[in-house]
Amino acid sequence: MKISEILAQDKPTISFEVFPPKQASGLETVKAAAGAIAALTPSFMSVTYGAAGSTSKLTVEVASDIKNLHGVSVMPHLTCVASTREHVSDILTQIRENGIDNVMALRGDIPQDGIVCHDYTHASDLVADIRSQAPDICIGGACYPEGHIESPNKNLDIDYLKLKVDAGCDFLTTQMFFDNNIFYNFLYRIKDKGITVPVLPGVMPVTTARQLSRSVALSGTNVPERFRAIVDKFGSDPDAMRRAGIIYASEQIIDLIANGVNHIHVYSMNKPDVAGEILTNLKEILG
Ligand code: FAD
Repeated sequence: MKISEILAQDKPTISFEVFPPKQASGLETVKAAAGAIAALTPSFMSVTYGAAGSTSKLTVEVASDIKNLHGVSVMPHLTCVASTREHVSDILTQIRENGIDNVMALRGDIPQDGIVCHDYTHASDLVADIRSQAPDICIGGACYPEGHIESPNKNLDIDYLKLKVDAGCDFLTTQMFFDNNIFYNFLYRIKDKGITVPVLPGVMPVTTARQLSRSVALSGTNVPERFRAIVDKFGSDPDAMRRAGIIYASEQIIDLIANGVNHIHVYSMNKPDVAGEILTNLKEILG
């Protein structure tokens, strides 16, 4: 099923994300985790794409399992900065051959060695290319309520986001954030610039102090005092930190739904237990 059709439903939905293994030897473990998350019957699942496309085939393989073995709608990610048009076309063919109706089109991070392939410069180039090759596919794009880390300012970032949406995005998913007010403010600002596609907030349950420092270093996400205090207090106690992180993410989701945001994407990081506990916390809220 296309994610645009899922988002057209007037009821709250929760989707989960998994990432592929770095090597084929880890495939069965990831497939087992993805299967356990699929058994929770989320509205859809997404599968990330390894940096520089290193694990592109594994992304499609895990995504195919989620859809064709477990019956859950799926969205593989696809990055372009280090890819040729031929490679993108090949992956897109694999996605279609597996009966998958969705793809998340991304630029990807610039590789540390700085080596890029010049077939695509921005995600908007990839969106346009996918749209021309597969007019019917549902395309998601990334957005950044706090501004993309390379962007000189948030207004310019939103101007470029508008170009990406106009190239053919059906919906957007945000980078994680820990302060919902930043997301609400972002929604006003993009609406003002004429971006009207659905925007899924991306919520990350942080279950270890290390996960927080790594994610924040990569994304530049602001950590509010309230969450910082939780990590300071419980970061050295794994069970307490895990519980506090799940409760914090659940509270973020409850606040989003209470404020009329119906569709939420959870960065569940191959952790079926964490995904399951979040759903348990939301049981009566999701109905
Ligand atoms: P773009 O939309 O191209 O934006 C990148 C930068 O370029 C921004 O600063 C933007 O303002 C600027 N820009 C855009 N268009 C123009 C233009 N026309 N002229 C000048 N500047 C412009 N990474 C992975 O490797 N694999 C994944 O699976 C993955 N999944 C992700 C999912 C989500 C929801 C998010 C939020 C991020 C994900 N990422 C993933 C990370 C992403 O690849 C990086 O954040 C990357 O640096 C930017 O990708 P983008 O698609 O947002 O790029």
